[in-house]
Amino acid sequence: MSGLAPAGLDRADYAPILRERGQREVFCGLTGIIWLHRKMQDAFFLVVGSRTCAHLLQSAAGVMIFAEPRFATAIIEERDLAGMADCHEELERVVERLLARRPEIKTLFLVGSCPSEVIKLDLAKAAEKLGARHAGEVRILNYSGSGIETTFTQGEDACLASLVPEMPASVPDAALELLLVGSLPDIVEDQFLRLFAELGIARVGVLPARRSGELPPVGINTRFLLAQPFLGETGLALERRGAVHLPALFPFGAEGTTAWLKAAAEVFGVDEMHFNRVIAPGRERSKRALAPMRERLDGKRIFFMPDSQLEVPLARFLANECGMEPLEVGTPYLHRAHLADELIALPETARLSEGQDVDKQLDRVRAEKPDLTVCGLGLANPLESEGLTTKWAIELVFSPIHGFEQAGDLAELFARPLRRRDVLEV
Ligand code: SF4
Repeated sequence: MSGLAPAGLDRADYAPILRERGQREVFCGLTGIIWLHRKMQDAFFLVVGSRTCAHLLQSAAGVMIFAEPRFATAIIEERDLAGMADCHEELERVVERLLARRPEIKTLFLVGSCPSEVIKLDLAKAAEKLGARHAGEVRILNYSGSGIETTFTQGEDACLASLVPEMPASVPDAALELLLVGSLPDIVEDQFLRLFAELGIARVGVLPARRSGELPPVGINTRFLLAQPFLGETGLALERRGAVHLPALFPFGAEGTTAWLKAAAEVFGVDEMHFNRVIAPGRERSKRALAPMRERLDGKRIFFMPDSQLEVPLARFLANECGMEPLEVGTPYLHRAHLADELIALPETARLSEGQDVDKQLDRVRAEKPDLTVCGLGLANPLESEGLTTKWAIELVFSPIHGFEQAGDLAELFARPLRRRDVLEV
């Protein structure tokens, strides 16, 4: 690790953070449904929103023609917005029709949007009433994915936080249990579960569970590792139920994955030699995969616009394991407690910014002319037309990037646009 912070200090204590509150260019929290509906195999996401919300979901997910999708939008029409119809009654009718037609649904999320918030539709009350009616058959929950309140990864945070009160209570005097928190592709989750089993940590739960009936228990004997840095509300909800967060780097790259696994191994009393033996093959594979990437990325200057909330751990990975130079690391929200280890490991030359004032930030991008700018879809094309090379932040959320086996692919995601630029220039 090449952390450059003065010993014992949080980077945020000595390096100023640029805080901006202006116009921002990010997707809303509805976007999370795209990866969450794949993860939770018997859940359904009913967005209570407008045609704009439906279009966002359809274009982000691709139109599913052959499969029965597990998300939909209950459209709020103009007469609803004008207060001419009883939206609660209409919503109940839609839900009853849906559940009658789709008996395989075991968890139904009513997802709030900008329009449902503007007309103050009480989805919590609706979920409670419908949940009582379908108790024992379908769990009905609600959360907000509205762009007024959430950036796109916060949709997952809000969704997982709504599941926490539903988790069964663990037996207080039972042995410690590990909980992995954050939606990961199944293949990556399985890799981690195999590693924990080899380390001898037997009791491991996962949130979100793949099936509604498999929600893991939580209580004072729960120790949880966050797999994603954007789960502030979920972490808080777990702590309210007695669980204890294990601070660590996030599992990106060889260094991050080792530190993340080590945080659990230490608490669960795994012998150090055994730990090193178990992780050595994966760690070596990831380093081998990273070596050619480092040749391509070394010395390249990168600028992160605030988008996915993955920016700080990714900048740390790219700086320390790939030799890149982060110029600015922008993030929508900076959770200092969850990112404490990351902030220490981030090069102190990187400028940290929280929030966004998009025009001012674009001015900084143009002035610094980074080799690569990581940003949202809406900003990528204009920047490319100005001759700047970009990477879509949303791809980082849709791709498997966690863990030893994915370290090379993660670096490749940043190397590819640079290679494309070189080819075009030739
Ligand atoms: Fe747009 Fe708001 Fe609907 Fe998101 S929730 S698609 S920001 S209207």
